[in-house]
Amino acid sequence: MSRENVDVLIAGGGFAGLSLAVALKQALGPAFAVTVADPALGANHGDDERASAIVAAARRLFETLGVWDAVAGQAQPILDMVVTDSRLDDAMRPVFLTFAGDVEPGEPFAHMVENRDLVAALTAKARKVGVTLIASGVESIAHDGDRVVATLKDGRDIAARLLAAADGARSTIRAQAGIATHGWQYEQSAIVTTVAHERDHEGRAEEHFLPAGPFAILPLKRNRLGHRSSIVWTERTAEAARIMALPDDVFHEELERRFKLHLGDIKAVGKRRAHPLGFFVARAFIAERIALLGDAAHVIHPIAGQGLNMGLKDVAALAEVVVDAARLGLDPGGPEVLERYQRWRRFDTMAMGIATDGLNRLFSNRSDVLRLVRDVGLGLVDRVPNLKRLFIREAAGLVGEVPKLLRGEVL
Ligand SMILES: Cc1cc2nc3c(=O)[nH]c(=O)nc-3n(C[C@H](O)[C@H](O)[C@H](O)COP(=O)(O)OP(=O)(O)OC[C@H]3O[C@@H](n4cnc5c(N)ncnc54)[C@H](O)[C@@H]3O)c2cc1C
Repeated sequence: MSRENVDVLIAGGGFAGLSLAVALKQALGPAFAVTVADPALGANHGDDERASAIVAAARRLFETLGVWDAVAGQAQPILDMVVTDSRLDDAMRPVFLTFAGDVEPGEPFAHMVENRDLVAALTAKARKVGVTLIASGVESIAHDGDRVVATLKDGRDIAARLLAAADGARSTIRAQAGIATHGWQYEQSAIVTTVAHERDHEGRAEEHFLPAGPFAILPLKRNRLGHRSSIVWTERTAEAARIMALPDDVFHEELERRFKLHLGDIKAVGKRRAHPLGFFVARAFIAERIALLGDAAHVIHPIAGQGLNMGLKDVAALAEVVVDAARLGLDPGGPEVLERYQRWRRFDTMAMGIATDGLNRLFSNRSDVLRLVRDVGLGLVDRVPNLKRLFIREAAGLVGEVPKLLRGEVL
């Protein structure tokens, strides 16, 4: 088969890959060829039960890319957040921290969006702006002069000046580029499902720190099933496997023990899925003509709902350095461009990874001493308005050297 030439080939059409494709194509126009290859393109994402907390900075990126309007109708603003720390069967769950209000007037610090809605909106936008979409995966890579050549599973060769690896946590490209990772598996899995409840959640997110790990109730937009929330329920791996195998009525009892009845009667209305949890960061984010982004570069604990948001920071930073280079007539896959990307993202990623790992260790245990430490800490944050405001802005992705797209500026 003949070889096709493009400027940037993106392996992986998840949130990170598609967002990068749209950002590059919108900024650089028809003369700059961008292709996304992913075997899952065009597949049905209907059984992905996950929903993601899209923080304010990430929402600004989607708005700038012209994708937000397509999901805004189904996006539920988080208007209020409550954090508790208790044992599983405690009758009372003392509240240690509450977050309410906006990062800027009228701008909530996050929205809950269902993953399938976001992937559908990004795919439609990519098609509209002229990204070439190929429903096949990258099988192997080789270097040929100033190109990296990817051979796809369908047999075709694509030569690119830059290969962006957005091919997820088990990235083939990361492995083939010889990039190792630091990290470990947690002995925890997250059970995800959707729960319908009698009463309105009023935009409130809840995170209950239980000894096995956090149990999060995240508000979703009301639909034909009524009032709904997405559940991210962390358990030790063996316990998660037991819970996943329970018949519906016993599963319901376990769910109710954790959810409680403050929103009235509840009913699991989505499929259950269990995700094993781990933490890793790639030892390098770049190799010759290759940049890693999203879960291919880092996976963190979902305790703070920041995994995808970190991937979108990679997207915004990589898009900015590539667009700057292309406009100056420089090689978008050249070493200076890639070094700039790596400097920008790697330290920030390590810092967030270590913070979420520390949070998980501090909260997912039975120690009374640690319980006292964390409750005093949370209580302090709750009482010092400036500290709390800083926490909200940090969680919203608006602190540090924020790339343009996350500030809502076009490239
Ligand atoms: C339980 C849970 C809850 C979460 N909640 C949140 C949250 O609230 N907020 C948040 O910010 N994050 C959250 N996350 C994290 C978030 O879901 C991930 O960080 C995000 O989905 C990663 O997106 P991605 O595009 O990098 O990778 P993926 O979504 O994994 O996409 C990778 C794509 O690459 C494709 N692919 C694989 N191999 C190849 C190949 N060889 N060639 C081409 N394509 C290939 C796959 O088909 C896939 O489409 C959560 C994670 C979990 C487990």
